[in-house]
Amino acid sequence: MTAPLRLDRYDRFPRGLCDIGPRDIRAILPNPSLLTITGRAGAPLFLSLLLHGNETTSFFVLQNLARAFEKELPPRPMLIFIGNVAGAEQGLRVLSGGTDFNRIWAGGDTPEAALAAEVLKAARAARPFASIDIHNNTGANPIYGCVNALEARHLQLAALFSRICVYYTNPKSTQSMAFSTICPAVTCECGRPGEVEGIERATRFVMDALHLDHLDTASRAARDLSLFETKGRIVVDPDTDFEFGAGAAPLLFPADLEKRNFSPLQTGAEIAHARTPENPLRVIDEEGRDLTARFLSYEGGRIALARPATPSMFTSSPSIIRQDCLGYLMEEIALPQSL
Ligand SMILES: [Zn+2]
Repeated sequence: MTAPLRLDRYDRFPRGLCDIGPRDIRAILPNPSLLTITGRAGAPLFLSLLLHGNETTSFFVLQNLARAFEKELPPRPMLIFIGNVAGAEQGLRVLSGGTDFNRIWAGGDTPEAALAAEVLKAARAARPFASIDIHNNTGANPIYGCVNALEARHLQLAALFSRICVYYTNPKSTQSMAFSTICPAVTCECGRPGEVEGIERATRFVMDALHLDHLDTASRAARDLSLFETKGRIVVDPDTDFEFGAGAAPLLFPADLEKRNFSPLQTGAEIAHARTPENPLRVIDEEGRDLTARFLSYEGGRIALARPATPSMFTSSPSIIRQDCLGYLMEEIALPQSL
């Protein structure tokens, strides 16, 4: 039996929050926490922070909010969930042997899923204006938002954060998938943990959302969005050694592969070179279907795109490639007429 996870509730920013680093968070917030911050008027803005313990940008945004609203009320109330504090203390995305806090929002029998259900219940009762979940990623990616519904208000919210937006509907168990059924919901991908630009952009986005009366005032920006849909991820055969740049490994990736993130690539664009009988790369969608033949060609050792696609989250970190994937392939999609 695993012990239930306790959700601590606070009705203001905890004292001392601005004087600590993210690794010391449990000195102030020992358990996952839900802060209810009174605002001047209107429905609350829901914020989801530190679902991944090593993604510290959201911690610094929280400190910026605590400073900004130390002496004055925010324009709207806020409900702020601070998730994986134990992971943050150890600088880990997920505690070893633990559950990913961004895969617990579609039910289940883990303590983390029970915690998420409790947070969702509180959020539903509060009828939030919008939900913002703040993350970081690895690799060279621009700052971008993700939505889970192709509806005007969701895209208008995303457009306040970045002109680049990714639409996905799998996995179903993420925070924003769950919240997108309650209110407009955006996931902020703020580049690498702790980078100043990501912290500033996410803070400004939260401030803008707090000051906004109606989302349709952002509709002009939404019509300028570049909207992408994730189609699949590229996994590397676990038995094939690889290197970046030049080398003797049977699979070689270009040294600058991750610089192509969010740059549209044409049919024939090279992804890698291999000296193996079969293509050591596979493209898999979220349902586990193999899309390799649709997306990749393998001829004369050259692994290339078989159709136009846009890479995202390509990384050159061998451990991430082995544990997770090389990166994702997306396709640009049209904006809905309703914008
Ligand atoms: Zn994350």
